[in-house]
Amino acid sequence: MVQAPKNVPLLDINRDNQPHREEFIEALTEVVDSGRFLFGPDVSSLEQEVANYSQVENAVGCASGSDALLLALMALGIGPGDEVIVPSFTFFASVSCITRLGAVPIFVDIRPDTFNMDTDKLEGLITDRTRAIIPVHLFGQCAEIDRICQIATDRDIPVIEDAAQAIGAAYHSRPAGSWGVVGCFSFYPTKNLGGMGDGGMLTSGDAGMADRLRLFAGHGMRPRYYHQVVGINSRLDTFQAAVLRVKLKHLGEAVEKRTMISSRYERLLSEHQLVNEGQLTLPYVDPNAFHVWNQYSIRVADGRRDDLRAHLAEQGVGSEIYYPVPMHRQECFADLNVDPDSLPETELASQEILNLPIFPGLTEAEQLRVIDSIASFYQQSARVAA
Ligand SMILES: *Cc1c(COP(=O)(O)O)cnc(C)c1O
Repeated sequence: MVQAPKNVPLLDINRDNQPHREEFIEALTEVVDSGRFLFGPDVSSLEQEVANYSQVENAVGCASGSDALLLALMALGIGPGDEVIVPSFTFFASVSCITRLGAVPIFVDIRPDTFNMDTDKLEGLITDRTRAIIPVHLFGQCAEIDRICQIATDRDIPVIEDAAQAIGAAYHSRPAGSWGVVGCFSFYPTKNLGGMGDGGMLTSGDAGMADRLRLFAGHGMRPRYYHQVVGINSRLDTFQAAVLRVKLKHLGEAVEKRTMISSRYERLLSEHQLVNEGQLTLPYVDPNAFHVWNQYSIRVADGRRDDLRAHLAEQGVGSEIYYPVPMHRQECFADLNVDPDSLPETELASQEILNLPIFPGLTEAEQLRVIDSIASFYQQSARVAA
């Protein structure tokens, strides 16, 4: 009997963690024995290591990428009446940090090729109430952060980089998180540097800002039981830091594998004509960007994305849609009354995008299965048409 081919998962975290199991156990055992579950030495070491990795002077651990964004806005004193420019085509946390403080998100449309903020549309959205700009380095590729920072600096507006998906990415060889006043990272398990739970980090080239971020992350308390500001409780715990230090050692290797997988998709998909015919559009890499491939995102034309996704699911091939509902269409942001016609590329991307399996341990055989499944979808529909 022919064995049924195994399913291809969108992501297999266990497969990626398995080779480092002994290292994790050793690092975690040390934390257990130390009894220092918060503020342990691994936390400050990881802060230093992430700062070095991102070529920025200071790093401050916190509880999540979402908290990192919130803390950045809190430290900048953003509040009611203030405007913050951000893409609508992003994860919720890039926007909730703004509304949570009573400020107003001003949505900027994206470029259709990179899915990142369209820098040409940025200037037109700046008003005298603009207090920050949050570019998101989506899918592991930096936005045009040089131009964004230039536009912002000319007007004295701080840039907060949402680098949750982009640790190790760079633009003009300068790392994500080192361009803006603050860089925000997430260690959510699916991110390129993923922990075994929640975690986040803030980077800043400004020591005063880093100190303020630390103050806000620690109840605004300094010294003990004296509260200078109303901060929050947002800590990176020692267990996470210990795990993340192990993973950071192997991050370069993991990114190399992701890059190889993306090249292989490009080659295999191109061979199938679907790309030439415009049915599928492959990811575009900005020549100035070093892409770290947190996601491999194709576009599916002619309203066929959901049918293709259903076909892949039938064939046991995982896929996902990041993001099906842009932020300006979310129920919780309905009172912002955003005109969807002002964000045409955001709207189209949410209808066409499809994210294929990519993780360091994905095998060539699995990628071939993904490609075969995509090809069989189009062959099947060609037969129906004929
Ligand atoms: C994951 C993510 C976040 C939030 O990070 P958490 O650690 O899950 O809170 C913020 N922004 C973007 C773009 C993300 O992908």
